[in-house]
Amino acid sequence: MSGDEEPVDCEACMAQKPTEPLASDCCGTGCSPCVLDLHDTELATWRRSCDRCHEGGAQTEHREPMENKQQATSCQDALSPDEYRAFKLQATKQITHDTAIYTFRLPGNSKLNLGVGQHIILRGPVNGRFITRQFTPISPPGMKGHFDVLVKVYNDGAMSQYITVWKEDDDIEWRGPYGTFSYQPNQYRRIVMLAAGTGITPMLQVIRHIVINEDDETFVRLVYSSRTYSDILLRETLNELTAYWNFTVLYALSRETPGEHPTSYGESFHYGRIQRDTLAAEMETSPQPETQVLICGTKSFDKDMLNFLKKLEFKGNVFKF
Ligand SMILES: Cc1cc2nc3c(=O)[nH]c(=O)nc-3n(C[C@H](O)[C@H](O)[C@H](O)COP(=O)(O)OP(=O)(O)OC[C@H]3O[C@@H](n4cnc5c(N)ncnc54)[C@H](O)[C@@H]3O)c2cc1C
Repeated sequence: MSGDEEPVDCEACMAQKPTEPLASDCCGTGCSPCVLDLHDTELATWRRSCDRCHEGGAQTEHREPMENKQQATSCQDALSPDEYRAFKLQATKQITHDTAIYTFRLPGNSKLNLGVGQHIILRGPVNGRFITRQFTPISPPGMKGHFDVLVKVYNDGAMSQYITVWKEDDDIEWRGPYGTFSYQPNQYRRIVMLAAGTGITPMLQVIRHIVINEDDETFVRLVYSSRTYSDILLRETLNELTAYWNFTVLYALSRETPGEHPTSYGESFHYGRIQRDTLAAEMETSPQPETQVLICGTKSFDKDMLNFLKKLEFKGNVFKF
């Protein structure tokens, strides 16, 4: 039975009725569960709670389960996939002219508890209506006390307008986690990551997850495209991760020429866009059926990479974030 079938004639109950999500709350990428489906479940739970309230005749009985739920969730899981929760903006660190790391406070000892490669959804008011966008936290999933999100701001971006006016201590609404990527250690001999710009965020999660597990012998190769050397996001973090035996990175610089930019020890570069022959060279190192390719960039970058793999008749597994 849908929670909306019979009208509820009780102010206390109506005050607890779950707010119906907007169509724009659905990010359209097949998250499971979707926020629109979850609303039906929330309504059914609310309706049962109303029924208990009226059977018992006391409004406090109605309120109790809701309050208990709120308290419990705030101590354990900071995030919820079925409702937006507000987190205070603790700090902002600008890392390039258009990209910053935003740090949000987590209540008590709670953690985000994201699975590897999962993302969360930001909701913000823009031009009088709520819009949503996905972001992939870059702090380790088990981090207590705070989480970090790396965000590129676009001059003409809708959510970017809202993000650029954030101030410390603002309450910012997130829900999650979401994402269908799943990882099994040693399932593939080699993972080739093709990333561009902020597409590095899920890759960073996966890289960390693999290299810190001593029992995981998967070799990870990151081919990371940026316009210029100074546009490379998280370069120092990535360079530090190359200290692990099973991770290497190739920086592809689409608008840079050799010798015209600084370098740090051990860095390797490809000048120009990532092309079919760049990928062909990357695929030579391990048998294709034992190789997985992960892709995350702009729509056109993702499309190009998928086309190149098709033309190369790549026989391994491909996952696009
Ligand atoms: C799973 C996932 C994880 C993500 N993680 C991150 C992350 O960690 N960090 C991060 O910064 N971003 C991430 N993103 C991207 C993020 O969700 C937003 O898309 C991004 O921040 C832009 O949002 P916006 O509303 O500011 O810009 P939008 O209004 O969506 O516009 C973005 C850019 O696209 C252009 N554009 C908009 N509409 C069109 C159009 N119709 N045709 C051509 N160009 C157009 C705009 O001019 C602008 O330059 C992720 C996306 C996904 C799907």
